Amino acid sequence: MSQPKIIKSVEDMREASRQCVKAGQSSGFVPTMGALHTGHKSLIERARKENDVVVVSIYVNPTQFGQGEDFEKYPRTLESDTKLCAEAGADIIFAPETLYSEESRTFVEVGELGEPLCGMSRPGHFRGVATVVAKLLNIIRPNRAYFGRKDAQQLLIVETMVRDLNLGCAIVPCEIVRDPDGLAMSSRNRYLSPAERKQALAIPKALEYCKKKVAAGERDAMKLLGDMAEILDQQAGLEIDYIALVNAHTLDDLKRLRGDVLAAIAAKVGTTRLIDNARFEKLS
Ligand code: AMP
Repeated sequence: MSQPKIIKSVEDMREASRQCVKAGQSSGFVPTMGALHTGHKSLIERARKENDVVVVSIYVNPTQFGQGEDFEKYPRTLESDTKLCAEAGADIIFAPETLYSEESRTFVEVGELGEPLCGMSRPGHFRGVATVVAKLLNIIRPNRAYFGRKDAQQLLIVETMVRDLNLGCAIVPCEIVRDPDGLAMSSRNRYLSPAERKQALAIPKALEYCKKKVAAGERDAMKLLGDMAEILDQQAGLEIDYIALVNAHTLDDLKRLRGDVLAAIAAKVGTTRLIDNARFEKLS
């Protein structure tokens, strides 16, 4: 197991990418905010299989946090992250101090896809995400970039941005990794007390219920949303932010489930906001 090289400056990262292109090597990129877990690891391992060089970025991006959100307290654990990156076979960790200056003026406008779901309770969040992803893709110029389906709206927005701005990089979606109890892995799970962690299990439980009903032929969105809301409401300590059944490509609400569908939930457990989702393909 070799140690990944840690690069902290944009110029050094650019140079490493240039060397990689010069040597005719393909590159895979995994953007993260650190506090890495097995979900992140699965993305890095996938990138390892498909590319000559694997770059992981670790950067808590200030522009995607709103006022009163957890930017300051977001876990920063570079030492253990480096270990996980080494285990997963990353070659380079790009961990810049900052990617913005006082003079930064330009942002990526993501349009309607940034408005519903998480965009409602986190205005400006996806503008920050798209901006930092565009910056990272421009610095690293990877052949492929790996994103988790856990952040389904983010994935869709990034795919759309890469297409619209001709960023010339393949976006590779990766499946959600869960703990054995069903909770989707997240860096924010470490904020949860043992009691809150149990409460949070209502989220995957509601999604599992939805999957079971859809498999049995249920297509009525109101009915499914009502039942999922009941499962979540029954759980003390959990506060629903949204439950949605939407077209997976447009994020438009559905009355009846048809085609590619995203079932998405965001909820607060204590002060921790968690998201999770399930996808259905080609429903008829
Ligand atoms: P983050 O560090 O939370 O910004 O996440 C970095 C990348 O890892 C994003 O593409 C996430 O969607 C992905 N990711 C986070 N948690 C999971 C998970 N449980 N399963 C799969 N991918 C994940």
